[in-house]
Amino acid sequence: MTTNEDNLKKIISHAKEYGFVFPSSEIYDGLSAVYDYGQLGAELKKNIKDFWWKSMVQMHENIVGIDAAIFMHPETWKASGHVDAFNDPLIDNKDSKKRYRADVLIEEYIEKIRLKNEKEVEKGKKRFADNFDETQFRATNPNILRNQAKIDEVTSRFKTAMENDNLADIKTLIEDLEIACPLSGSKNWTDVKQFNLMFSTEIGSVAEAANKIYLRPETAQGIFVNFLNVQKTSRLKIPFGIAQIGKAFRNEIVARQFIFRMREFEQMEMQFFVRPGEEMKWYEYWKSERINWHLSLGIDEKNYRFHDHVKLAHYANAACDIEFNFPMGFKELEGIHSRTDFDLKQHEKHSGKKLQYFDPEINQNYVPYVVETSIGLDRTFLAIFSSSYKEEQLEDGSERTVLKLPAFLAPYKAAVLPLVKKDGLPEKAREIMDLLKYDYNCQYDEKDSVGKRYRRQDAIGTPFCITVDHESLEDDKVTIRDRDTMQQERVAISEVENIIRKKLTRENSR
Ligand code: ATP
Repeated sequence: MTTNEDNLKKIISHAKEYGFVFPSSEIYDGLSAVYDYGQLGAELKKNIKDFWWKSMVQMHENIVGIDAAIFMHPETWKASGHVDAFNDPLIDNKDSKKRYRADVLIEEYIEKIRLKNEKEVEKGKKRFADNFDETQFRATNPNILRNQAKIDEVTSRFKTAMENDNLADIKTLIEDLEIACPLSGSKNWTDVKQFNLMFSTEIGSVAEAANKIYLRPETAQGIFVNFLNVQKTSRLKIPFGIAQIGKAFRNEIVARQFIFRMREFEQMEMQFFVRPGEEMKWYEYWKSERINWHLSLGIDEKNYRFHDHVKLAHYANAACDIEFNFPMGFKELEGIHSRTDFDLKQHEKHSGKKLQYFDPEINQNYVPYVVETSIGLDRTFLAIFSSSYKEEQLEDGSERTVLKLPAFLAPYKAAVLPLVKKDGLPEKAREIMDLLKYDYNCQYDEKDSVGKRYRRQDAIGTPFCITVDHESLEDDKVTIRDRDTMQQERVAISEVENIIRKKLTRENSR
């Protein structure tokens, strides 16, 4: 049986082997939790970004996009609360010298018990077959009830400790639960400490007084400080949204999960400004919009779930995550937060400027409330990449590795392959490249046998291979092979573009 760890290893090595993701500065042995996107990774990432931008900005008349600077006035981060409160509780294992997030250790403990219950349900399903009543089973099975009671107890103690910032209680909880260091098995823990995640640097030359500034830990604040600039220049009326894609930086404590948790990453965020009192309606609206966005990628619904926050951030009155079943289990992919008027009010206070909106419908000035959708671009990449990765046994007994990416996100839409490197076939293939390349990113490949070339394209997720053979010179037809079904069809060259275009609509993309 393959473990989660094996799965993640396979994904990491496939990503590296085919030029999707490399460790940063690898010739110097890499930099922890920093990664570079290679030639294919950059394409896939760009396609995901474009898809998000189109869905959020182009498809909503009342959402516009901006591109704010990474550096911001240092006062921004005092106002937002990040200087004082953007902390994670860290704990070190004294024997392995490994550092962990105390909250993550507890969440993983809870998740393990939940998985035990899922296994019980699976067993029950098998045992009772058609007569299985899952609701009744969950409500009566003694093992499930015992496990659920444990989950409730741990969650409640964890929540209270986090809400009271009681670090000693968090340590006691870890000790009471006998949580061991996953690497060494040791239960010899230090006290829990708070650790601020913001990177800082200095701005200004030596001659001037240098000023400490931060690398932004989220893109949202660039939107808040520009709220009135955008509103006035766009003349948008509430409710409206401002979207942004950009880099964010966090000095993460635990950095061992590939591009899931990076110290430099990208966020795709949208702040939706609403009338006070209407935030819950919009919170529910964006929850449903965002889950539908994910489902439109065609990834199995079972891989997503909502998770309400145990501890609300200092700015939120409701918050949940969309979690995804990553190779290492269910983890946060996107956050949806009702941030109240906290940020805008704080910026009013710290800047001395009014950040209010005049609502002509009710003839009132107010500071709008905000509902935020915040998704990690790199985590979305990992979700799509890992769920597309398949090792298939073929009928003839051979195996293939195929990346079943949604076609519209694939780095290359088609590969053009002359059967042999002579007899005028490369020239004919080049003509097809010229026909397609303005609209679609295509790859020309004439090296190795056609079978090997098919495998290479499968492994990088190219939806179509177009093969030019000797007959093509006579009849202007080519063989087009579908990545997923491996079916080959002989079609007129003039038809090829149509076939590709059809596949790239989202409904046909998987
Ligand atoms: P986590 O609990 O996993 O640390 P978070 O709750 O701190 O995440 P948010 O502050 O809500 O994350 O950030 C919004 C989104 O940004 C997350 O849903 C995630 O997709 C992404 N993100 C956050 N931190 C990282 C990181 N270190 N590396 C990659 N993506 C990240």
